[in-house]
Amino acid sequence: MTGRFAEGERVGVLTTEPLGRVLDYRAPEGGCGPGDYVVVPLGPRHVMGVVWGPGEGGFDAAKLRGVERVLDAAPMREEMRLFLARAADYTLTPLPAMLRLATRAPGLGDPPTVRRVYRASGHEPARLTGPRQRVLDALEAYGGAPVTLAELSAEAGVTGSVVKGLVKAGAILEEEAPRDLPYPPLDPGAAAVRLEGDQVAAAEALVAAVAADSYSTTLLKGVTGSGKTEVYLEAVAECLRRGRQALVLLPEIALTSEFLARVEARFGARPAEWHSGVTATERRRLWRMVSEGGAQFVAGARSALFLPFRDLGLIVVDEEHDTSYKQEEGALYNARDMAVLRASICGCPAVLASATPSLESWVNAAQGRYGRLDLGARFGAAELPEMHALDMRPEKLPANRWISEPLARSVEARIARGEQSLLFLNRRGYAPVTICRACGHQIGCDHCDARMVEHRFQKRLVCHQCGATKPMPEACPSCGVEGRMAPVGPGVERLAEEVGTRFPQARVAVLSSDLFGSARALKEQIAAIAEGGAEIIIGTQIVAKGHNFPLLTLVGVIDADLGLQGSDLRAAERTFQLVRQVAGRAGRAAGKRGVALVQTYQPEHPVIRAILGGDEEAFWRAEAEERRVAGMPPYGRLAGIILSSPDVGQVFEIGAELARADAPLRRIGAQVFGPAPAPIARVRGRHRVRLLVKAQKGAPLQAALAEWIGQVKLPANLRLAVDIDPQSFL
Ligand code: ADP
Ligand code: ZN
Repeated sequence: MTGRFAEGERVGVLTTEPLGRVLDYRAPEGGCGPGDYVVVPLGPRHVMGVVWGPGEGGFDAAKLRGVERVLDAAPMREEMRLFLARAADYTLTPLPAMLRLATRAPGLGDPPTVRRVYRASGHEPARLTGPRQRVLDALEAYGGAPVTLAELSAEAGVTGSVVKGLVKAGAILEEEAPRDLPYPPLDPGAAAVRLEGDQVAAAEALVAAVAADSYSTTLLKGVTGSGKTEVYLEAVAECLRRGRQALVLLPEIALTSEFLARVEARFGARPAEWHSGVTATERRRLWRMVSEGGAQFVAGARSALFLPFRDLGLIVVDEEHDTSYKQEEGALYNARDMAVLRASICGCPAVLASATPSLESWVNAAQGRYGRLDLGARFGAAELPEMHALDMRPEKLPANRWISEPLARSVEARIARGEQSLLFLNRRGYAPVTICRACGHQIGCDHCDARMVEHRFQKRLVCHQCGATKPMPEACPSCGVEGRMAPVGPGVERLAEEVGTRFPQARVAVLSSDLFGSARALKEQIAAIAEGGAEIIIGTQIVAKGHNFPLLTLVGVIDADLGLQGSDLRAAERTFQLVRQVAGRAGRAAGKRGVALVQTYQPEHPVIRAILGGDEEAFWRAEAEERRVAGMPPYGRLAGIILSSPDVGQVFEIGAELARADAPLRRIGAQVFGPAPAPIARVRGRHRVRLLVKAQKGAPLQAALAEWIGQVKLPANLRLAVDIDPQSFL
């Protein structure tokens, strides 16, 4: 650790500008220290940066410009700088792009500002009207905590002038308070549940890991409802008792009011939230409070990993297998892996929780790199659902129907008993393909090589690749014949139509991310369904994630074969995870055993059999063995290179040039495959070509990749993205 730099001394500053290196400046009046957030001149502009260390020299001292000012924010800790540097090295992301992730708080450099707040003075006003009484009641409800005018008038349902009148009358005090207030303290002892069975030992192990005050990673595995959340909240409690900060990462955080409410019940206050739905003001507050210790517990989306924690004592990654942890644009990182990296640098435990872990984590645990804790049964009386395959081959359904007779009868029985059924189909929209019955033309996107999906609800065709939309044409764009455009295959909207015909009396709800204007609207719908607002729920994969429907006793998987198509390395794993998870939604309420019926045309497929058979360990062992033999991750290493350009000739040329210049890769024993058109060969008008690099596990892949790519001069309009450990092959 270097000490402070005196005024005029040479310092290296990393900015978020895409320059790829640290620039030298002179320390300002009063000096500066490593990690200080500063403003520096860059050409004609003033940009934010972080003092990264001593200057590198080499640049003419006389021409060196000075740091303009040091921002009023806690300096970036050395541990954070190390984390960003290691993450950049691992993902081959330029360091400035990593720094951008760590400084995503608006107004970060602003001086602390104040705002007006109000609290009761304890004096009764001479005249007490109804509205005035409501204001005083509202203040009492806040229990003496200061509130803003907007909050207070909203809570009391009065105009601001009523509040101001009470200030004049001496009943309310008007004061200035810092804008960024600490978060309400959490009480680790507020209301623990009594853990049972396996939960006890698992919680003890995690508490011990937190108390050990050192790095470890533990896989916490247990079926949905087995109490994983309760168990890791005990580790959070231990972390809070030690006065350290805890971070829980959740997928789809905007939808987890259930989680926030549970934390509140357990610790007497909610955690601080960090995700895209949080306002700019709150983001700034959280960023500052995390760095000053005014936030003890953060629940966040993957980018919360880059918050400047002052004293991080625990990271939990819930649903660690979830694909949304992989950032697929910009800096391509997997938050699960980065969480483990950050924990190892902080010297704190990481906990990866899942009912269906990623194969990587399963192997890491099997090989002893991670600890593993298993929660066996479901909590309470609720049991895992019975699982049955419905062989669709003898069903002979007409082309516009997807619900088999046995499934339909089961749904009817549920309706008669006042219970709920969930029909799961992981396809948004009405129909995945629109075809012309006259010439066979399929409607595609004008900007991508993807077929457009009909969304009847929006009355549009939508490209799920780039989001482009257009109206459904009357006439075929290819042959011009009118009135022959026809939908092929089901989406949830079309399934809803079939349900409407088949069960005309039933109340039906469709849950699909595109049908709701906001996360809040979706949340409300989910809450209404949980209270019995629908008898049949039709949903895409958003229903798989953590929502509790106590009346749900039947899950019908409409097409279990869907995920098994395609050449994705993880197709089997994904299908297994998704179907198991969706099935786990059934019968979560005590006393009612759920049933999951899985419709398939290939009941003998090993993945389908594994899903039904319940011998999960056998499934993982078989998958792991296949990957080992093929030298695929986690036994080997992969990197994807995607080149894209508006010029199709150019992408292939550069791709071929890279493939030929493979000496740096061969030196580490790695092989390069391609160039080949990416599975979706055109996105937003850019042609895409991919190369795949495969190396042995211990090979120094990143260094070789950097040298390899560095050999080729890239034209300005060509983009190159490196994806280490690619998750999807798009
Ligand atoms: P998971 O995270 O594995 O899905 P949860 O922790 O959400 O499981 O537990 C499922 C449900 O059972 C929750 O409502 C939870 O509060 C409850 N639960 C689990 N363990 C206990 C316990 N020991 N005592 C009381 N309630 C429990
Ligand atoms: Zn498109």
